[in-house]
Amino acid sequence: MNREQEEYPPYVVPDVVADIYNWRCFGIVENLTDGVLRLISSSHAHIWEPRVPCCAECKLIANLKTHVVPDENCQCGIYATSDPRQALHYINRGTSPINLNNWKEITTVVAKVQQWGRIIVGDVGARSEFAYPKWFSIGSRELEVGRKIADIYGIEMRTGPVHDLFYDLRDNPTMSEETTRLRFLALTDA
Ligand SMILES: [Zn+2]
Repeated sequence: MNREQEEYPPYVVPDVVADIYNWRCFGIVENLTDGVLRLISSSHAHIWEPRVPCCAECKLIANLKTHVVPDENCQCGIYATSDPRQALHYINRGTSPINLNNWKEITTVVAKVQQWGRIIVGDVGARSEFAYPKWFSIGSRELEVGRKIADIYGIEMRTGPVHDLFYDLRDNPTMSEETTRLRFLALTDA
């Protein structure tokens, strides 16, 4: 087997050929030594490096025969949800288990994420081989750090009253489903 064959697994028909856009929550973290800012997956302690695609890896097959990522019968891939409200479920889960030495979480943002490569569509979104944020929503109290992140990652920052939604949800966790839904609808343009 030559090198090219090793690196490119057998062709498998993906669910989606075109790029798709879905939602993820990110933490913004700051390095306590040098002040570097990064986006981090809210669901687990994984830093997304700027200006390079996030590439999915499978943690479950370390000792087994490798498979393409994501795999239909596995849980691997980069997850993103089709409804931004679903992304919220990962916020609170993300704040406590993050265990990154020397990094401090500053805030959370919701982002529209471009997914491409091999894509498997699920009930609430999709998991993909590659992903990168396209734009993110940040509240008006955090514009300074938001502008820095936009510059570091080369992506668009969106702000304004509708983007203060996260503050409202934190301050008013009993906000009705309907209010939450309407507020999120205002965010859903690509
Ligand atoms: Zn896997």
